[in-house]
Amino acid sequence: MDHDVIVVGAGPVGARLATMLAERGVDVLMLEEHASIGRPFQCAGLVNPWSMDQVGLTNTVLQEIDGATIHGPHHASVSVGVPGETRTSAVCRNRFDEGVVHQALKAGAQLQLSTVATGLLAIDGEGWRIHHRQGSTSGTTTCRLVVGADGAHSRVRHWLRSGRPKEMMIGNQVEVTGFETEHRWLEMFTGSAIAPGFFAWAIPTGFGTHRVGLWSAPDRLDEASPEALLHALMHTSRHAHRFEGCQIVARYCGPIPGGMVRRPVRERAMLFGDAAGLAKPTTGGGIGPGFKQVAMVTDALAEAIHADRLSEPALKKLSRPWDDLRRHQTRARALRNLFLTESDDDTLERHVAVFAQPEVTAMINRLGDIEHPVPLGIEMLRKVPSFRPLALKAGWAMLTA
Ligand SMILES: Cc1cc2nc3c(=O)[nH]c(=O)nc-3n(C[C@H](O)[C@H](O)[C@H](O)COP(=O)(O)OP(=O)(O)OC[C@H]3O[C@@H](n4cnc5c(N)ncnc54)[C@H](O)[C@@H]3O)c2cc1C
Repeated sequence: MDHDVIVVGAGPVGARLATMLAERGVDVLMLEEHASIGRPFQCAGLVNPWSMDQVGLTNTVLQEIDGATIHGPHHASVSVGVPGETRTSAVCRNRFDEGVVHQALKAGAQLQLSTVATGLLAIDGEGWRIHHRQGSTSGTTTCRLVVGADGAHSRVRHWLRSGRPKEMMIGNQVEVTGFETEHRWLEMFTGSAIAPGFFAWAIPTGFGTHRVGLWSAPDRLDEASPEALLHALMHTSRHAHRFEGCQIVARYCGPIPGGMVRRPVRERAMLFGDAAGLAKPTTGGGIGPGFKQVAMVTDALAEAIHADRLSEPALKKLSRPWDDLRRHQTRARALRNLFLTESDDDTLERHVAVFAQPEVTAMINRLGDIEHPVPLGIEMLRKVPSFRPLALKAGWAMLTA
């Protein structure tokens, strides 16, 4: 075989896996269809402290963020977070992705840019022949294990018949000048006319710019497009006055796959990151869960690669820790549906008003963790009297999750 592992897609998750495997003596080649890393940019760029610790790319941070102001659909709002306690960081995604890929190269992995994987052919229980195209030149390269880290619309996932992510949301975002938020604070806007079932955001990115965007699910949009909703937030919503004088300097949009696919592991093949459907159902963030997914298996995976123990049952066994990720994702989705997605505007307004009660805000500040929203959600259902009516529904949702 030409390589132990071919990773299709040099996004942050594929590159993180390549780094960890190369550091363990595995011969890894990354194939990336674009001519440069980190493009197109499709992200709000929030990276949580654990993920940042993994890669140490603090030089890519544009703005550290301590908290969020959440706006209800009508009048209520609540500010959560503690000044000076960093909850997340807004990074320059291009530089962040380049940094992760650079670490992979430093660890000994190889990278082929402008190379699109076009097909897979199994080689009799020994590995794969990957077909690829670079400009007008087609070629093949062989490997013992193929990894699909090729994003939300993963072709590797399709070739392996691994199933689909449970949900596919759409994100749409602009970068603006002229918006103001409290220092080190982001804002979230809710309401069916703003982001049906989900929320919009304004994230400070230093240098006087903000990323303003929203995400929602296609089946909740009716006739509206995400672009039209974002335009409405900035021009006709109750928040419109705050966007007066803003200049749009960039636009982005992209898919957000949430809900781990049925078969992330096949014979001599694995899916990671967005390809596996790993974005968080509560925020849409995919870097943290992708890095977690990598960290959970790399030691065992490197050993299995060295021993050439890469059958589907062997890979399933070593990826058993992913069951926790799947379970957590399902529970987080159930809680999101309960508190946000399945609430009409009046109910949502009441929820934000309850969040603003001092004892509830204190609970959020104590337990709120972007990576682990489930403990906070459960504690609120248990301890906050206004949420008791939801508790029974939640119990059922969690039991069936
Ligand atoms: C509007 C929006 C806002 C978001 N905000 C955040 C946020 O704040 N924080 C966060 O953590 N996440 C956020 N996300 C999600 C985040 O962008 C993804 O979860 C993350 O990029 C996933 O990383 P990945 O490496 O799995 O896939 P990707 O970053 O998608 O990388 C996949 C790579 O594979 C390459 N590729 C695809 N097909 C092939 C092929 N056939 N051959 C070769 N190469 C191929 C692509 O070019 C790409 O470089 C957001 C997403 C959107 C749309």
